[in-house]
Amino acid sequence: MSAYAAPLKDMRFVLSELAGLDGIHKLPGCEEATSDTVDAILVEAAKFASEVLDPLNYSGDQEGSRWDQGKVITPKGFKEAYRKYVEGGWAALPVAAEWGGQGLPRLVSTPVEEMWCSANMSFSLCPMLTQGALHALELRGSKKLQQTFLPKMASGEWTGTMNLTEPQAGSDLALLRTRAEPHGDHYLISGQKIFITYGEHDLAENIVHLVLARTPDAPEGVRGISLFIVPKFLVNADGSLGARNAAVCASIEHKLGIHASPTAVLVFDKAVGDLVGEENRGLETMFIMMNAARFAVGLEGVAIGERAFQRALAFARERVQGRDLVAGGKAVPIIRHPDVRRMLMLMKSQIEAMRALAYVAAAALDTAHLHPDRETRQRSQAFVDLIIPVVKGWCTETGIEIASLGVQVHGGMGFIEETGAAQHYRDARITTIYEGTTGIQANDLVGRKIAREAGATVKALLAELRSFDGELAQSTHAHVQALRASLAAGVSAISDCVEFVLAHAGKDPRVAFAGAVPFLKLMGITCGGWQMARAALVSEKKLVAREGDAKFYAAKIATARFFGDHVLSQAQGLRDAVVNGSAAVMALEEEQFLAA
Ligand SMILES: Cc1cc2nc3c(=O)[nH]c(=O)nc-3n(C[C@H](O)[C@H](O)[C@H](O)COP(=O)(O)OP(=O)(O)OC[C@H]3O[C@@H](n4cnc5c(N)ncnc54)[C@H](O)[C@@H]3O)c2cc1C
Repeated sequence: MSAYAAPLKDMRFVLSELAGLDGIHKLPGCEEATSDTVDAILVEAAKFASEVLDPLNYSGDQEGSRWDQGKVITPKGFKEAYRKYVEGGWAALPVAAEWGGQGLPRLVSTPVEEMWCSANMSFSLCPMLTQGALHALELRGSKKLQQTFLPKMASGEWTGTMNLTEPQAGSDLALLRTRAEPHGDHYLISGQKIFITYGEHDLAENIVHLVLARTPDAPEGVRGISLFIVPKFLVNADGSLGARNAAVCASIEHKLGIHASPTAVLVFDKAVGDLVGEENRGLETMFIMMNAARFAVGLEGVAIGERAFQRALAFARERVQGRDLVAGGKAVPIIRHPDVRRMLMLMKSQIEAMRALAYVAAAALDTAHLHPDRETRQRSQAFVDLIIPVVKGWCTETGIEIASLGVQVHGGMGFIEETGAAQHYRDARITTIYEGTTGIQANDLVGRKIAREAGATVKALLAELRSFDGELAQSTHAHVQALRASLAAGVSAISDCVEFVLAHAGKDPRVAFAGAVPFLKLMGITCGGWQMARAALVSEKKLVAREGDAKFYAAKIATARFFGDHVLSQAQGLRDAVVNGSAAVMALEEEQFLAA
């Protein structure tokens, strides 16, 4: 079975040439992120991912987490791996120094998180959820709550969860029922939450649940939701662990993938909780941190795609079948066959495009938080708001396609569990569902991010893409010129869709929303194509100057060209689905769906 090796060359290239690590390093508070330090972190993280996390991925999937009388036992090796993760200080990487963290920018924690997820997606969800909970507390927690919980969460000694979902409230959180009764200086929380990732486990001594609930007089709907912190063990004034709180794990789910990650049903029965932020403003806090969480899940699409690709590539170089079309003779490794190469290129080119877009978004997140100039911060935040649903929706949908191609490259062995290809496909499948389904991301993109602001940010992005065309025009490389034409078609397709959305959103939003997912994909492939074109231009310049690794740069240009011809070329079809196809989406009466 192939071992995971972090794609350090591509990560370094994207960080320095596309996402602007140099510029991020100059932001206040990011002084530590010099290219030498970042490189040392990447090398160490790559070792941890390959040597500690990757070997537990397959066995963790086979064994799964187990529920026993309210306790959850993670698969063999997970506890030890988590202990090493804490001892290595990995949990503290992106956390502010004030709480014992290393304060590194998002751009630096992003490749590290990609590695964790590639090596072992189930394991990576525990740190990912902890970061989310930690971030919410950093934003809205009182000083006392922050002092009690953040240092332990930053070190990884305590983990965190996000408790939103209830049986009747999934995409629609307005339907939440969990109650919070004021009781002295705290609240008593009662209700049932489902699907809570790492809601119970044996990796850490305490679990910090962040729970959405309603106070007795709260207004109906999303305006009546508050956020509470409900630890598994109450914390004494001196910081030691106190009584067991009334938050019990009733069961864990049996599911398609991520078997090692426990997905818990949690029952709160007058559990002691503290309010985070103000009453009835819980969803607002959730929304602030949602960009980070959605970004993290988008990155899972990149990570699982990379892992599936590496496995497929190793198999394609070993599996001998069929003769070379030109040389004939004996049977050859299947990587010699054009269709297998097409599949591998489809995997590779989309992973590289997604990675580039995700890292560029991470740099924009840092700039939006830390840049001294207000206007620059606002511009970056607008870009982040627009692009996060695209990173989440497009990278996860494509991650599944890539994992499916990984199965296909393996032939029948891909369908058999022992190669590991099937596990990636099963694991990837959740990414388009949790943290907001693709449909919800696409609605957000079309409604909140485009229609609500009359397309201001997306039009600014289109202007940037058009001005970038001037740079591409300078290239003398045939591949870059071909990609330039594909990119121009993508830009014009987005422009048509934006006009269509703006024309219809006010009159009949159903028509605008009917094409929301094809529109999101169009945004994804075009923005991915933009990054591949930038990568190709840099590579061309390096080749002309005879600088660096010529093979890497030549491969980058050829991969970018492939992306233009095989992926970006779908832009016109997606545009037509939005502009011409939206009416048909709503055409049938409900009973007409069944043709029987
Ligand atoms: C393994 C796993 C881990 C999870 N981890 C967590 C966790 O840690 N914390 C947590 O709180 N939750 C978690 N969830 C829950 C997850 O976030 C929800 O499953 C997800 O938000 C979708 O909600 P739902 O399952 O109720 O689907 P529904 O909301 O019922 O959606 C069903 C379908 O309808 C579509 N749909 C619904 N509303 C609309 C709309 N307005 N417009 C267009 N389409 C719509 C959806 O896109 C989807 O295709 C997890 C789920 C799983 C399976």
